[in-house]
Amino acid sequence: MPPRIVVAGGGPVGLTAALTLARNGLPVTVIEADAGVCEGSRAICISRRSLQLLDRLGVAAPFLAKGLAWTEGTSYLGAAEIFHLRMPHAPEDRFPPFINLQQYYAEQFLADACAATGLVDIRWGHRIADVKAGPGGAALTLTPGDVLDADWLIAADGARSTVREQLGLALEGRSFERRYLITDIALKCGWPTARKVWFDPVSNPGSTIIMHRQPDDVWRVDCQLAEGEDEHEALKDENIRARISAHLAMVGLPAEWTLLWKSVYKAHTLSLAEYVHGRVVFAGDAAHLVPIFGVRGLNSGVDDAHNLAWKLALVMKGQAPPSFLATYTAERRAACLENIAAATKSTWFMSPPSPGYVLARDAVLELATRHPQFRVLIDPRQSAAHAYRSAAILGGPPAGLPLPEARLGDGRSLHDVLGGGFAVLVFAGDGLGVAPRRVGALDYLEIRIFAGDACAATLGAKHGDTFLIRPDGYVAAVLKDGDVGGALRRMGLSLEEERHAFA
Ligand SMILES: Cc1cc2nc3c(=O)[nH]c(=O)nc-3n(C[C@H](O)[C@H](O)[C@H](O)COP(=O)(O)OP(=O)(O)OC[C@H]3O[C@@H](n4cnc5c(N)ncnc54)[C@H](O)[C@@H]3O)c2cc1C
Repeated sequence: MPPRIVVAGGGPVGLTAALTLARNGLPVTVIEADAGVCEGSRAICISRRSLQLLDRLGVAAPFLAKGLAWTEGTSYLGAAEIFHLRMPHAPEDRFPPFINLQQYYAEQFLADACAATGLVDIRWGHRIADVKAGPGGAALTLTPGDVLDADWLIAADGARSTVREQLGLALEGRSFERRYLITDIALKCGWPTARKVWFDPVSNPGSTIIMHRQPDDVWRVDCQLAEGEDEHEALKDENIRARISAHLAMVGLPAEWTLLWKSVYKAHTLSLAEYVHGRVVFAGDAAHLVPIFGVRGLNSGVDDAHNLAWKLALVMKGQAPPSFLATYTAERRAACLENIAAATKSTWFMSPPSPGYVLARDAVLELATRHPQFRVLIDPRQSAAHAYRSAAILGGPPAGLPLPEARLGDGRSLHDVLGGGFAVLVFAGDGLGVAPRRVGALDYLEIRIFAGDACAATLGAKHGDTFLIRPDGYVAAVLKDGDVGGALRRMGLSLEEERHAFA
């Protein structure tokens, strides 16, 4: 029997990890405390990078069909427009910079895709109550009662991770004091999908209000609470009604709306120092918490899950030693620290932590109304892909970066022919050819591309170049000698015949 991988938590991160492992042919058990997908919209902005990963997993289609694409946003001071956000969007991009989609849909689409593999057993309504971790794995006690042994445990059980607590690990960093009231409302209105922010609106003086359209005529309305404001009072339906109705009236939207979900949010910038603890590996909110401003929580968690899962699949198949997972912490913790740096700046702006920051923020807003050069300071610094440096990147640009969107001469996207595993782009010959290859025990796809192809120009590739692409779409190396096996070995992989390392 193949070794057992257990995922704690069936949120977007746990389900992405499970799906990636299943796509690599590995059976997985997911333990999820809730009886079904999450309540409330929670993470609504899904980034282009996440869509690229979901596409590699063969699950992007329902996200794109249901989600609402957007490329722009507007910020106002009072009623005056002070900043217009335009996200990069080139003709060769297969996906918009963002789609808006309620987290419960994201979880449902991932759970459906997991079920369709026949390899993922999701145990809904089971909570991990106790974890005993040892050198060979972890013993889990579930509620309702059951005991489960895991050879590897992926801890994706969210911000209040039981696994983290059971292992006696603590997140390091800081928490911000200011809070936002978060609501979903049902509202019929013809506004396009765009990010809209009002600083100090007449409807709610001193506050900041953010509005995002979601599918099904649902709108996210986030309102900053005043310093010291009573959270319980703010959450009372009649107080929410007064606050939101005043705002809808101010912006000329219909007075008819229904409250669907409410919550209070406080920003944190927290992370574990190390994500791999023996045979227990942390991902998503269980590993780190980043503020919602810049929308990096779910998006960075999806990247964690995929990065971890393809590496763990190699370890399980005996094609990489467990120490290869050190590259997971190296890459994803560095990404987390970058996220924290960017999101901290956004949080200072969206939720200034002290009167001094309020003064500085208001000065920027005021200046931006008259001097366009200050408007860039209002940029919300939305989530983007990271450059990696680790043993799994062999150096030299564009190595360490995700493969850009590029069109092949026949009009197809390069990503459409890449497959979900390792790929090698060979810039030689006079046409396009795709063939499965094997080096030792490791399968990869060889894609031969004419060096005069538009795609080569986009990638800056010259005749004779060989690009080694990782399963997450990152360029691992640009090889001058074309020695794919040598490069994979230098990354720390073993090319011996496939065997289950822990069978
Ligand atoms: C109001 C709000 C808005 C947000 N907006 C965005 C956004 O637009 N974009 C973005 O990228 N991020 C956003 N985020 C952040 C995003 O929601 C989280 O980062 C994301 O949900 C993390 O996913 P996860 O799977 O790690 O954790 P979770 O989504 O919390 O999932 C963890 C799962 O583990 C389960 N679980 C917990 N304990 C146990 C246990 N002991 N046993 C078994 N199961 C357990 C839980 O039931 C849950 O289903 C937002 C968050 C909030 C609160």
